[in-house]
Parts: sequence; C-alpha cells; structure tokens
Amino acid sequence: MGERKVFAGGEFLTADIAAADMFVPERFTEEHRMIFKTASDFIKKEVVPNLERIEQQDGEVICGLLRKAGEIGLNGTDVPVEYGGLDLDKVGTCVVAEAVGNGFSFAVTHANHTGISTMPIVLFGTEDQKKKYLPKLTSGEWMGAYCLTEPNAGSDALNSRTKAVLSEDGTHYVLNGEKIFITNSAWAESFIVYAKVDGEKFTGFIVERSYPGISTGPEEKKMGIKGSSTRPVVFQDCKVPVENVLLEVGQGHKVAFNALNIGRYKMGAFALGGCKTSIAEAVKYADNRIQFGRPIGSFGLIKKKLAEMSIRTYMSESLTYRVAAMIEDRLATLDAAERKSGPQNAAVMEEYAAECSICKVYGSECLDFCVDEWVQTLGGYGYCEEFMAERAYRDSRINRIFEGTNEINRLLIPGTFFKRAMQRRLPLLQAAQQAALEAEEEGAFSPPLEDPHFGREKALLRLFKNTTLLTMALAAKNFAAKLAEEQETVAMLADMAIEIFALESGLLRAENVLREEGPDKAEHYLAAVRAYAADTAPQMVNWAEQVMAHVSDDEGDAGIRRVLGRIRAVQPVDSVALKRSIADRVREFQRYPFGT
Ligand SMILES: Cc1cc2nc3c(=O)[nH]c(=O)nc-3n(C[C@H](O)[C@H](O)[C@H](O)COP(=O)(O)OP(=O)(O)OC[C@H]3O[C@@H](n4cnc5c(N)ncnc54)[C@H](O)[C@@H]3O)c2cc1C
Repeated sequence: MGERKVFAGGEFLTADIAAADMFVPERFTEEHRMIFKTASDFIKKEVVPNLERIEQQDGEVICGLLRKAGEIGLNGTDVPVEYGGLDLDKVGTCVVAEAVGNGFSFAVTHANHTGISTMPIVLFGTEDQKKKYLPKLTSGEWMGAYCLTEPNAGSDALNSRTKAVLSEDGTHYVLNGEKIFITNSAWAESFIVYAKVDGEKFTGFIVERSYPGISTGPEEKKMGIKGSSTRPVVFQDCKVPVENVLLEVGQGHKVAFNALNIGRYKMGAFALGGCKTSIAEAVKYADNRIQFGRPIGSFGLIKKKLAEMSIRTYMSESLTYRVAAMIEDRLATLDAAERKSGPQNAAVMEEYAAECSICKVYGSECLDFCVDEWVQTLGGYGYCEEFMAERAYRDSRINRIFEGTNEINRLLIPGTFFKRAMQRRLPLLQAAQQAALEAEEEGAFSPPLEDPHFGREKALLRLFKNTTLLTMALAAKNFAAKLAEEQETVAMLADMAIEIFALESGLLRAENVLREEGPDKAEHYLAAVRAYAADTAPQMVNWAEQVMAHVSDDEGDAGIRRVLGRIRAVQPVDSVALKRSIADRVREFQRYPFGT
C-alpha cells in the first residue's frame, strides 16, 4: 500500500479513478492469507462443532470461544500492540471479519465485541483507560457491550433519556435509565454507555458490570442469531467514576458515530463470509440433487441463481476491500504522532462515512439475497432446520436493522455528499456542470470504446455518473433546504451512488486482473462486470425518471434525458450467456469463483 492515489470521501462520483489506484483482493499479502487461514480454521474447528450449544446461549462455551479467539489474536486486529492487539492494517482486519462471518451467532458476538464495544476505547480512551480495559478485551478475558439504543432512541439515537449527574463530591456520575437490544449483555463485563449529563450533554462512559446499580433484563426471543445475547440493560443510581468518561462530556456523539463507521465497513466484510458459504453450499446441493433426470444445477434458472449470487458477492467483496484500503491509504499519510492519535484515526474513518454506509447496505443486502437464493435452491429442504440454509436465512435478516438501519444509512449517503459539497470538500456542483456540458455535446457520447475489454462498461459507468450528478443537482436545486423531507428521492440518489461504487469497484478490479494475470484468468471477471453493468442500466434509467417525474422541472430534465437516451443506445450484451458462463465456473470450482 502507499503508492495508490489517495481519494477524498465521495470523490468516486466526481473523478475518474484508475485501476492502479484501487486495491484488489488478488493483492492480499502473505500475512493477510495467513491470518485468514488462522481465523477460518478457528471457525471451522472451534465454532462450527459448537453451533448447537451456542444456539442454546451456553455462556461457558461462548465466553470460552472468545478467549480462544483472543489467544490467537482475533480479538485485537484493530488494537495497538502495546495493549495486546495485532494492529493489522484495515484490509487485514476485514480479512479476519470475513472469516469470522461464517460463525453464525458467534460472528455477531465477536463483531460487536471487537468493533463497537472495543473501538471507542481504542479511538477515544485515555492512556489509563486503554491500559486498564484493552488487554482484557483483546484477550477475551472480558466481553464488551455497546449501549446506545433506548425505547425512545433507536434510529434517533441522540434522543437518549438516560441521565448522568455528577456526585456532590465530584468523584463519580450517577446514571439512571434503560438501554434495550444490547448485544452481549448476558456475558459482558464492560459496557460502553451513552447518557446525557444533566439531561443535556450526550456523553460516553465505560461502565463495569461490577459497579453498583447496573443490571440486565430478560433475553429477547429473536427471529435469528439466537446464540447471541440481546437484553435490556438497566441503570439505577449506577455509580461510574469520573475517570470513566470517554473523550469529554458532551462529545458522546463523536464516540458513538465514529464507532459505527467502523462497524459499517466491517459489516461488509462479515457478510462476505456468509455469501461465499451460501454459494458453495448451494452449488454442492444443486449438483447432487436430481430432478427430471438431471442435476438441478444444470437448469438455466438454477444457474442464474448461482451466477447472480456470485456476481453480487464479487461486487461486495471488491467494494469492501476497496474501502478498507482507502482508509488505510489515508492513514498512511498521517505522521507517527497523528497515527497514534485516536481522534485523528476517527477523522480518517469519518472522511469515508458514505463509503462505510455503502459497505453496510450493499453487504447486508447481498447476504440477504444469497441466503434467500440458497434456501430456494434447496427447495423444501432449504426451509427445514436440518439444513444450514434455514438458520443462515434467519440470521442474515438482522444486518439490515442494526448498526443503523439501511434506511438511515441510505439517507446518510447523499446527505454526506451534499454536506461536503457545501463545505467545498467535494466538487459536486462542478462535476454536475461538466456532466451537463457533456450532455450538450452533439452526437452520441463517445465512450472509450477503443478499449476492447471494458469499452462498453466504462462508457456506461461514465453515463451512470453523469446521470447521478445531474439528478442530484436537479433534486438539490428544486428541493433546496427541503430535500431532507424528500426521503424517497434521497434514497434513490443513494441507490444510484451505491450501484456506481459497486460497478466501478468490480470493473477496476477486473481491469487489474486482466492486466496482471491475462485474459484467460480474467474472463469470468469480465463476464461479471458486463452482466452487472447491463442489469444496472435499466435501474439507473428508472431511478432518474422517477426523480424527474417527481420534480417536474423541464429545463433541468433535458440534460438527464439526453444521457438516458445514450444509456439506452449502448449495444446490449447477452446477459443470459454471460451468467451461464459464470455459473459454469461456480460448478467447476464448487464455490465462489473469484479471488484466489
Ligand atoms: C438483535 C439486535 C441486536 C442489537 N444490538 C444492539 C447493540 O448491541 N447496541 C445498541 O445500542 N443497539 C443494538 N440494537 C438496536 C438497533 O441498533 C436498533 O434496533 C436500530 O438502530 C433501529 O432502532 P429501532 O429498533 O428503535 O427502530 P426505529 O428507529 O423505530 O425504526 C423503525 C423503522 O423506521 C425507520 N426509520 C426510523 N427513523 C427514520 C427516518 N428518520 N426516516 C426514515 N425511516 C426511519 C427505520 O429504518 C426502521 O425501518 C440491536 C437490535 C437488535 C434487534
């Protein structure tokens, strides 16, 4: 890393990005591969054999597994070495998350523990807090929990009613209130808790289970991830020493939202593990199940499933590791002192807040798609507990709800772009003006069709970006300050940005593979990118047309209509044949066919 150009958050919309400037999983280092194998072996050998006991919430097994994970370094991938961690690069932490993602409920326990329940201390803890808590959390001696949600503060997290009042002698805060849906609460020893000091200043605290006045309520009976603990946590005159305030009084929002940024891009990686398992299990079944005298895997509609699961997973993988490397590349621009500073690290993550949300939304929806198609491939057996697909289907659903619902994350994506444009950090307006000029040009837009491999897809990507920029400008101009009230439009703008980021990530990765490994190795990458671009084109047209119909501004529409005309004029590809070729690859490899 370090030789790639460093891009600003959101710049993928306004700039042309070269393939050489994107990290691809084909460039995993030996260290990445080793840690992946360590984490995968741990899940296969230690977690999977215990799935039934985990599902029964056997605390001894679950806490024991967390300690074992700690012994081999899996709890401290983001923790500095001096506090017992491995301090891996962000790609490495995602590699571990992907492997652990196959651990069903244990993956949720682990993700919560290592992410939002540990990272606030890594980023914002004092030296004493780090020394006291991080070694325990990293070794797995202690499990962590993260208490943000309350009955009246879900998506609206800052609407907290939990109150903290400084004691008369100034030595501690007294907390009163109730948190709900708290993962790991049955077994956690440390809790990151948010409360309002004097009912006003939203503040983060580290609370130990041994402090007087903290208790947990009954377990929620959930649809899935039944082996993870989810309880209310109640604070009744709970005494928390003043030295356990995180960052500063009134700065809790920084702690809470920065922790979520990390949770979001890593969720993309956690979801990948499940996507790849869905594909491997679905193809194994499809090639053994005989109906009408043939394996069902030889039928076009089953092939379509295998191909589409693989294509979406390919995009998800490409974009997730791209974001991890973007964060790492920007961290590499910090000097040694800045690199050690938690708030500086958090600021780098915040730069890519929209990309982190894209990882979360795309990853969780890709996983839902894959587990659904896994169930469907198994037919009636897929619906029965005896097969893993049933559990995976139920377990997957939560990912669209926690770490910020996908609705909230969708709203955040264009919201971040518009805010950056106002702050002159992202040249959205200038890029929209350039797109308008290109739309004005006579004749068909001349794409880089001379590129024999990716000409059509590069042309489409450019047209998608121009469509999105013009549609964003149209919405911003017409709704101005009221845009936030136009959520349906904002969500469509988010979808346009998400699909651009996905397609571009897949395309640039395929270009890298083509250049470094040659056309034979790159053939199915090309097929995936072509099929995905073809599937995305009508969606782009549809979103833009819906926004135009809602806004009804003829003047603003004209440029967009010209771009949409050019998208429609791009020669179609034979998506059916492309997807069949990918499915053939899946059947040949008996697994997800991309990567190494
Ligand atoms: C199994 C599980 C584990 C969890 N673990 C934790 C944890 O460890 N720590 C923690 O703090 N929390 C945790 N949560 C809570 C989780 O983060 C919240 O459930 C989530 O943030 C949504 O809040 P809510 O449930 O109150 O839903 P609401 O906020 O009431 O949302 C309900 C619906 O309304 C939509 N909505 C809300 N506001 C808007 C808006 N402004 N515009 C458009 N749509 C909107 C939402 O997208 C959603 O579809 C967990 C939840 C579950 C179920």
